[in-house]
Amino acid sequence: MNLNIGIDLNETIVNSIVNKLAEYDPALRDRPKEDVVRKCSAARILAAIGNLNSIPVFLKIRDFVERPLLEQNDPGIMNRGMFVPLRRDDTQLFIAIANPWDPIAEDICAQKYPDLEIVKFLAPVSEITKVIESVSKVSGPTKSELESIEVDEESDDIADFNVTTTYEEPLTQFVAQMMSEAIKGHASDVHIKCEKERIHYSYRIDGDMREKHEIPMKLRDRLDAFMLNLMGLAPEERQKRPGISGRFTVSYMRRSIDIRYERHRTYRGYHVTMRILDKSHFEAKLGMGSLAFDSGTLFELEKVMAIPAGIIVMSGPTGSGKSTTLNAILRELNRPEDNILTLENPVEDEIQGVIHCDLKSSAEFKPMITSFMRSDPDIILMGEVRDFDSAELAIEAAITGHKVLTTIHCPRASQIIERFEQLGIERWKIAQTLKAACAQRLVKMLCPYCKVRRPGVTPHEQKKFNLGDEWLNIEFFEKSPEGCPECQHRGYSGRTAILEIIPVTAEWSDALSKGTLSPYELELAVRKQGVLPSLKNSGLKMVRDGKTDFEALRKVIDMSTD
Ligand SMILES: [Zn+2]
Repeated sequence: MNLNIGIDLNETIVNSIVNKLAEYDPALRDRPKEDVVRKCSAARILAAIGNLNSIPVFLKIRDFVERPLLEQNDPGIMNRGMFVPLRRDDTQLFIAIANPWDPIAEDICAQKYPDLEIVKFLAPVSEITKVIESVSKVSGPTKSELESIEVDEESDDIADFNVTTTYEEPLTQFVAQMMSEAIKGHASDVHIKCEKERIHYSYRIDGDMREKHEIPMKLRDRLDAFMLNLMGLAPEERQKRPGISGRFTVSYMRRSIDIRYERHRTYRGYHVTMRILDKSHFEAKLGMGSLAFDSGTLFELEKVMAIPAGIIVMSGPTGSGKSTTLNAILRELNRPEDNILTLENPVEDEIQGVIHCDLKSSAEFKPMITSFMRSDPDIILMGEVRDFDSAELAIEAAITGHKVLTTIHCPRASQIIERFEQLGIERWKIAQTLKAACAQRLVKMLCPYCKVRRPGVTPHEQKKFNLGDEWLNIEFFEKSPEGCPECQHRGYSGRTAILEIIPVTAEWSDALSKGTLSPYELELAVRKQGVLPSLKNSGLKMVRDGKTDFEALRKVIDMSTD
């Protein structure tokens, strides 16, 4: 059985861990082993392992690593032993290990540092690999090596494409390097485009396309065939179909990472987009880090999450992090006593204890959810409401007493109700089941190392961003035009989500179904209470706090409204 913590353990050890977990929590006693594991977080499983071995657990090691000590160690060897040295003094060496039942890490360290006593800490595999990753480098073939690749040659069949090892064959090594660089740099997508005289690839990171890297033109078809081969498709397929969608998996630092592949034929060849579904660096939690909602919004969200039946809808454009937030909500709602099902295309974030279903085509939607409803769910996450069928099924599920989380495409939270109407749902039905209408955006954050102080906006900026007079005298920050090495000269570093929420109370639900209140009036009524900020006001607060600037806001939020 797999504990989902990245290390392989035999059955006896797994049993002792499960017993330990049940010892802590009476609710888990007398339940099947699989259930216990599904209902426990990785941190809890780690705590049990630490307890069994009398080793302290250290969940976040990144900030405690002494860089010079780390750099003395070969990334390949650390990866093999799944350990990193943390720090040392004259007599002791402190190391983080992932698997206390495997002596390899201690053996390696004892050999390298024979005079030191080794003190072990237990850390998650994800943390250890993050640290190893920071000192590893996969280098690709040089430009002349790429130029000299034979175009007629066939690449080998690759069963398990490990993008962090070295390949003899230069094209394979080139793709490995391209993919590992993308994963290491937290890119969301890799694009490969053929133009008239050149082919290039580039990464999308934090929502922006980055610099282009050139690939020799003559590799066009061979590269294409290589990528199709990864998905088990013959190169002939590209002639038959204008668009090809597929998936493949690469392994990176002992992790499997899913890649969603989209290829469409273009005048000059093809355009490939590879979406990297790597969630290891983005396990969002409500109210923390990546989802830093203000306290009023968070409180309201938690309140609606507690309502047993009804729909919570998240709106926003593609790439606004809607599903990340819904998954964070799901994680909060995840209790052993609830049966949680998801229906997604594709499954982006696997949560322990939740049953995820992968939707292969939109035709599967209706039969899938019908069979869903018979399997006694308490909470349902539907990836997206896009047509009458999905809208009706979401409403039906809520009316029959389920909690439904879903997303829809529309700009403002208050437009969610109208969007459901456009899809053919009667107003009273959506008014009675909708518990919260939310809108979300991802805003780029200023690089803290190089942001530039400004005493207040200019009259021109005041007009452009539709700001009050007070902004003429409010000190704020904006991005540095030249940036710094910390942010790779972009001036920004990372993104955060801002959320607008419109709760639909019983009173408002009644007024909406009778038609005495329009969705827009509802939004105004919520604003008037002064507790829940609009997207724009949340954004302006971020500017006041020195976290972002007006340019970044303007790209994702309509600044003309309030
Ligand atoms: Zn910077």
